[in-house]
Amino acid sequence: MEIKITRASTLKEKPDSSTLVFGKAMTDHMFIVDYDAGQGWHDPRIIPYGPLQIDPAAKVLHYGEEIFEGLKAYRTADGSIQLFRPRDNIARMNHSAQRLCLPQIPEDLALAGITKLVEVEQDWVPHEKDTSLYIRPFMIGLDAALGVHSSKHVQYIVVVCPVGAYYPEGLNPVKIYVEEQDVRAVKGGMGMAKTGGNYAASLRAGDLAEKAGYSQVLWLDGVHRKYIEEVGSMNVMFKVAGKILTPDLNGSVLDGITRRSCIQLLKDWGYEVEERRISAEELFAAAEAGTLEEAWGTGTAAVVSPIGELAMGDKKVTVSHNQIGEITQKLYDELTGIQWGRTADPHGWIMKL
Ligand SMILES: *Cc1c(COP(=O)(O)O)cnc(C)c1O
Repeated sequence: MEIKITRASTLKEKPDSSTLVFGKAMTDHMFIVDYDAGQGWHDPRIIPYGPLQIDPAAKVLHYGEEIFEGLKAYRTADGSIQLFRPRDNIARMNHSAQRLCLPQIPEDLALAGITKLVEVEQDWVPHEKDTSLYIRPFMIGLDAALGVHSSKHVQYIVVVCPVGAYYPEGLNPVKIYVEEQDVRAVKGGMGMAKTGGNYAASLRAGDLAEKAGYSQVLWLDGVHRKYIEEVGSMNVMFKVAGKILTPDLNGSVLDGITRRSCIQLLKDWGYEVEERRISAEELFAAAEAGTLEEAWGTGTAAVVSPIGELAMGDKKVTVSHNQIGEITQKLYDELTGIQWGRTADPHGWIMKL
């Protein structure tokens, strides 16, 4: 399918790369392709960035019929542009689509939407250290009727924006508390899907955490309210007595691509990685016994995010003396090295534009 390109008549001024706020500086163009039941995907196009015209009765506005992805385009030292495991993002989007009764999108079409848009916006891929172009593909159900059904008219859209380092002050450990009231997802729900609804469910706890001086919450499972699932909107890993522990993909945990990549690297380095149920109790007991050596979150936006303090109720423990741990740092260095093309890519994770 040929992608029709309509260029913007005036281009925006590019923001200063040193003051980028995550997700705010949208570029000049966006990619859209329509889907209609019976017809399939049609009319892929790149058009000037701007508001969408949506019927006020559209399902996405009332029933949260939406899924999304997040990945980045990286500028290498020789000036070229590359993506990190983009096919994994598309496979996951199709997995999310199944859960929400949205249509499957052919991998080549979804990928072409991303690569063509990045090509059109190549001058927006920043050059400064730790900066990148964040890519946000999403799919929305647009049938204009208030009945609760899956949509027959759907759009897949891609927007992009330059982003700076997630933590401009550098990789500092964050304070986390264990959320005991709200849950993000339950087994049988949508936890394994990357969908806006899960984020809506997480907002209240996030707000309360922030007011209490914490940067994120550690989510517990929705059934037993005992087992650790994720941290904020990242997957989570712990180093306990030399071994790496991470919650298994039990249906309510998102299958993170950074998580997957970390597990591979850790195994390459000879670490034992256990994917299993981990109770908050087990974690705090390890901390008190002095065997909780490191804790970190993993996700595309921050790559890895060290955890320096954990709180649950009136219990509080410090992890790794509130310093970034050795493995956390090594994972960060190795992954960012591969992503920006400074390090060899033995697993074929990089796709050059
Ligand atoms: C996107 C996301 C992650 C991280 O996934 P990556 O593919 O590593 O970016 C983790 N948890 C949730 C809830 C997410 O939405």
